[in-house]
Amino acid sequence: MSLRDSRHAGVYTVSVFTKAPGSNGQKNPWVKHYQIRESETEETSKFYLAEKYLFSTIPELIQYHRHNAAGMIMRLTHPFSQGRESSQSPTELSEDQWKVDPAELTLGEEVASGQFGLVLQGRWRERRVAVKMVREGAMSEEDFKEEARVMMMRSHCKLVQLYGVCTQHSPMCLVFELMEQGCLSDYLRARRGRMSQDTLRGMCLDISEGMAYLESNNFIHRDLTARNCLVSYNNVVKVSDFGMTRFVLDDQDTSSQGSKFPSKWSSPEVIKYCKFSSKSDVWSFGVFMWEVYTEGRLPYENRPNGEVVDALNAGLRLLKPRQAPEAVHLLMEWCWKVKPDDRPSFALLLHELASLSDL
Ligand code: ADP
Repeated sequence: MSLRDSRHAGVYTVSVFTKAPGSNGQKNPWVKHYQIRESETEETSKFYLAEKYLFSTIPELIQYHRHNAAGMIMRLTHPFSQGRESSQSPTELSEDQWKVDPAELTLGEEVASGQFGLVLQGRWRERRVAVKMVREGAMSEEDFKEEARVMMMRSHCKLVQLYGVCTQHSPMCLVFELMEQGCLSDYLRARRGRMSQDTLRGMCLDISEGMAYLESNNFIHRDLTARNCLVSYNNVVKVSDFGMTRFVLDDQDTSSQGSKFPSKWSSPEVIKYCKFSSKSDVWSFGVFMWEVYTEGRLPYENRPNGEVVDALNAGLRLLKPRQAPEAVHLLMEWCWKVKPDDRPSFALLLHELASLSDL
């Protein structure tokens, strides 16, 4: 994507370079241009692109469309720099920093099988790691490689760290920090009836901290669930799989109509318009808290997705888990406000959760 002065004075054009299938179904690279328009109806001038999502400034508009296609062929992923200028931003890593040398990687036992393929335990440079062996055709590898450099720079004690990518063989494998106790939903179910209020609140605190970090970096998770949070050997809960849904190739899985689309964790604006934001992550976090306080129950257990969407539109919400203090239930309900702006930020949720003493 690049933003440039148009041939007409005072007019800006966003040019999107895409490999998305064209009308002939072929994946030929092509460029599509969108003019930034100004709204004429508003008293103060506002900007918009393909559809009428209005913004006071162009940087705000670009920021929004980095996460939402909203009428364009695709969302704005990577800025394109012209001329001989390096496209590597100072915050990105060089190739030898993000590529894992297979000679340094030892593979061990299988841990699980996930949406991208098998997950194995392993060792890399004296560290215990989890290695995701990407199944042929499961991932948009080129896009992921671009993003991996940025993802590796995201480092926080409440995020599962990506150490690097091994591209020597095809398909490639991804090397992550090992989380010895696996995913949080299984962990919760295995410990039902044995966890204190402090423990449950601690899990919500851990995840709100990781998410507040992502939010402050303008990064959207898109698939926050207890299944996508992992537990370390010393019971710290961390956010995993952030942003990964963007690289799943099977449309059946990820489209809002797809069988694996996480509708029961998705906000109304995501279900209706695929409009992702940190505030749609906040909605999912409300469902995550519900999972924690029900000790790993599935939300809306046996109800089909369509029925759940209708119930949400009618204003119904998940019921208060028996274990949840009233103050925590109020936070869940706050996350499930219809209007994204009415929901709290993760920074605020973190603050609120931290200030709840044992209730
Ligand atoms: P999915 O997105 O389908 O849950 P993943 O590939 O992310 O698939 O993970 C599948 C399973 O592999 C997880 O539920 C967890 O048990 C295990 N796993 C994934 N990442 C790690 C990790 N970093 N450390 C330990 N186990 C992991």
